[in-house]
Amino acid sequence: MEKMIDPVCGMKVKGKELTSLYGGKNYYFCNSHCKEEFDRNPLKYTR
Ligand SMILES: [Zn+2]
Repeated sequence: MEKMIDPVCGMKVKGKELTSLYGGKNYYFCNSHCKEEFDRNPLKYTR
């Protein structure tokens, strides 16, 4: 199973409503603010 950890804040994510596909992987977010931050600067959170 895919780990659902918000890459921006490090929290476990319960739902799958907020996702971004980046580099062939799905990333999940606890809220829209974290998703926006990730989408703005994905390299910062995918290393
Ligand atoms: Zn978050």
